Amino acid sequence: ANVSSASIIIVGASGDLAKKKIFPALFALYYENCLPKQFTVYGYARSKMTDSELRDMVSRTLSCRIDKREDCSEKMNEFLGRCFYHSGQYDSEEDFSNLDRKLKLQEGGEACNRLFYLSIPPNIFIDAVRCATLSASSSRGWTRVIVEKPFGRDTESSAALTDALKQYLEENQIFRIDHYLGKELVENLSVLRFSNLIFEPLWSRQHISNVQLIFSENFGTEGRGGYFDSYGIIRDIMQNHLLQILAIFAMETPVSLNAEDIRNEKVKVLRSIKPIHLDNVVTGQYNSQTKGDITFPGYTDDKTVAEGSLTPTFAATVLFIDNARWDGVPFLMKAGKALDNRRTEIRVQFRNVPGNLYKGNFTSDAEESNNELVIRVQPDESIYLKINNKVPGLGMDLDQSNLNLRYASRYSNEVPDAYERLLLDAMEGERRLFIRSDELDAAWAIFTPLLRELEEKNITPEGYPFGSQGPISAQHLASRYNVRWGDLNLNQ
Ligand code: NAP
Repeated sequence: ANVSSASIIIVGASGDLAKKKIFPALFALYYENCLPKQFTVYGYARSKMTDSELRDMVSRTLSCRIDKREDCSEKMNEFLGRCFYHSGQYDSEEDFSNLDRKLKLQEGGEACNRLFYLSIPPNIFIDAVRCATLSASSSRGWTRVIVEKPFGRDTESSAALTDALKQYLEENQIFRIDHYLGKELVENLSVLRFSNLIFEPLWSRQHISNVQLIFSENFGTEGRGGYFDSYGIIRDIMQNHLLQILAIFAMETPVSLNAEDIRNEKVKVLRSIKPIHLDNVVTGQYNSQTKGDITFPGYTDDKTVAEGSLTPTFAATVLFIDNARWDGVPFLMKAGKALDNRRTEIRVQFRNVPGNLYKGNFTSDAEESNNELVIRVQPDESIYLKINNKVPGLGMDLDQSNLNLRYASRYSNEVPDAYERLLLDAMEGERRLFIRSDELDAAWAIFTPLLRELEEKNITPEGYPFGSQGPISAQHLASRYNVRWGDLNLNQ
């Protein structure tokens, strides 16, 4: 139904994600006039709170767009006036019926769409979906549910979760968020490839020698390791965020920009990835490190982490896509916590220039330097291409320089938070950036056998000092494929 009003229900509204991301993103959408004219935001959780206490809590998280340089307090008050709270249990149909009554009051008896955002731990997803859909579905508009990872912990548990969700929801009502897909530069990947003539013809084994997908954080679990400890870095980052980026990077040209066309191509790439061999995997766990007067704690020093935990906080692996475009090209993935920098980037290293006339003319020690395209997803969003260039002067010396598109220098508008894009898309029914069930199955099929092997063989992760580049074996793994991780020198 084409209904122009919506109720947005944040289930788990008292939690961290709601405060940090969801309410601020909804306000940003309101501020940009992207929410329907008639909308209500309802927080739902067990904590007792009044509407005004919720508004107090939310108001502390809102900020004005920096680029607009205007006071947005009036807009904030308007937005807060549309926020309400209902306290209830996640497994009580009755509590959700009471919410339904309150929603109807706000909706004024008009047809209204309802979007439920499940911002709760995964063990209560199904209860909440059951009660929300049975007792508080929209009667004359659509009802959609946004779910956040983790979507299970392996193929079986993920399939069980999908089956359970599908008892209450159709596939097209389920919006599985991978917030990396909402990041500006990940969205831009397709634009870069398919709207420029100069990249796509090079996008294959003929010209690309390797692709690196790198995620690093420069902090540890900081006393919040409980959730992480039962998942580990492979499930937390690789199986979802990095693999999603890889799929968009490597997919064939979709028939159109339609969500199903794009997701069909992504799923083909995922299904073409070869099984991962344990000898192509390095896992690590950070140890404490003292620098000057400060001691940074090791992973197992975190009180919320199980004693003697073997959970990897770092992993590096090499994936191969078994198709005509990518046969033999290593896709190197690396993800880690407590490293020496914080960044997410895609690095595309090109092959040697055949018969290079300028071998030996480089100012550096290198005989020749290959082109590299870097897409920095965060922070300081940028796209740069390393090219070889003649150093100005009477000689014939070459160096490597960057053609650099740095967003902060080029664009004055603020890059929106990923959650803004994703919430807007969910409201508009745009599914391109959400994970379809078959994509999720294909993603788990790649990592489940590896995760099982690591766990069954009790593989001990290699230690690395807090704030370092990670386990030394990750460098050896890359060099087996004649690759140097591109971020060794941060100035590069
Ligand atoms: P959270 O703060 O731990 O939990 C959200 C709310 O759920 C809590 O305020 C609490 O509300 C309720 N809750 C917590 N534990 C519960 C339990 N054992 N039984 C019943 N209710 C419980 O979680 P979050 O960090 O906001 O994250 C929400 C969801 O997003 C999770 O699925 C998480 O994995 C996912 N996620 C979070 C982030 C992030 O940055 N935080 C990032 C990616 C994904 P009441 O006690 O008031 O009911």
